[in-house]
Amino acid sequence: MRETTVGTTRLRLVQGDITRIASDAIVNAANEELWPGGGVSGAIHRAGGMIIEDECRRIGHTPTGQAAITTGGRLPARYVIHAVGPIWKGGSAGEPELLASAYRSSLRLADEHGLKSIAFPSISTGIYGYPIEPAAKVAIETVIDYLRNETGLADVAFVLFSDGDLATYETVLDVVVQVFPA
Ligand code: ADP
Repeated sequence: MRETTVGTTRLRLVQGDITRIASDAIVNAANEELWPGGGVSGAIHRAGGMIIEDECRRIGHTPTGQAAITTGGRLPARYVIHAVGPIWKGGSAGEPELLASAYRSSLRLADEHGLKSIAFPSISTGIYGYPIEPAAKVAIETVIDYLRNETGLADVAFVLFSDGDLATYETVLDVVVQVFPA
């Protein structure tokens, strides 16, 4: 499935380029130094402009599993939440917990800023090498779990860059919703 409701929040899966999404915040798959780098981070910094990089430099080091918030610069989104996911090291170096923590920290920051909508990329599954299926499971379970508690978020989206990633997230969402009905 591509859409479900958890409590009062709509959870959606879409295919696309996250830099074009006009939600209150988009999430960046950042590194600990909050440097632009490649992948989705490079695209966000290119589209958003130097103001994001300047703010990132002021924030500085952000540990894996945590997140920081900056303006959206020239992006259609008002804010960028820079979430640091883990580098995949085989799966027994705490990767699932760190990935879950990156999603939770982002959602918490969004709520702390009173935001209503947030869009996530598939954190850690590009350059950081986290296999897509287990990453999708952590992402979807963590977000659903968070939304079961009090939140002001009305709309949460996963914006998957490829059709293949979207298909994987759809399959995982089907399974998670069957096992833990919303
Ligand atoms: P990480 O270093 O956390 O693995 P990457 O940016 O390398 O981050 O990849 C994370 C995911 O973001 C990958 O699935 C990649 O295909 C995807 N991605 C890359 N560019 C974009 C974009 N413009 N919009 C949405 N997702 C993107």
